[in-house]
Amino acid sequence: MRDPQTVNAFALPGGQVFITAALLSRLNSEAQLAGVLGHEVGHVIGRHGAEHLAKQQLGSALVNAVGIAASDRPGSGRQAAILAQAVNQMVNLKYGRDDELESDRLGFQFMTAADYNPVGIVELMKILNSARGGAGEQPEFMSTHPNPANRIEQLVTMINQEYPNGVPGRLQEGKDRFAQIVGRRL
Ligand SMILES: [Zn+2]
Repeated sequence: MRDPQTVNAFALPGGQVFITAALLSRLNSEAQLAGVLGHEVGHVIGRHGAEHLAKQQLGSALVNAVGIAASDRPGSGRQAAILAQAVNQMVNLKYGRDDELESDRLGFQFMTAADYNPVGIVELMKILNSARGGAGEQPEFMSTHPNPANRIEQLVTMINQEYPNGVPGRLQEGKDRFAQIVGRRL
């Protein structure tokens, strides 16, 4: 999203993941970006957003519509309208603590399965934490956790349990490629 100020990322129930230019510009590795995508896809797989939308008056119609729109041809007016409505709902969404922890776990699995170094998600949490401070404006990631240090600690514990002998060398951070592909576009 062409928003140079709001540090945020979120996903729609249909699987589309959005990241703001402000957040992207603060990243410096593919592993960090994989951390964003993995966490947001975790919300999709866990159906957290779908459950949230279903609880509102919008009901399941919007959830289904977003699913259809995701498989629709891009550019149609109907799709754009549905997506805009869903984005409105999701952009300020506050997930519960359990949802966030599940997404952290799933995101960790996804990014390491894709051979990215999980240090990226820890760095991401620190980046998001330092980006906080605006009045009431918190990135989706940080919306429910009063103490981000606890969450970073849990991620570090997860990494140490999965890789007691250290993170294998095949898990890359992808800093050079990130700088080449993303850095020059910002
Ligand atoms: Zn989240």
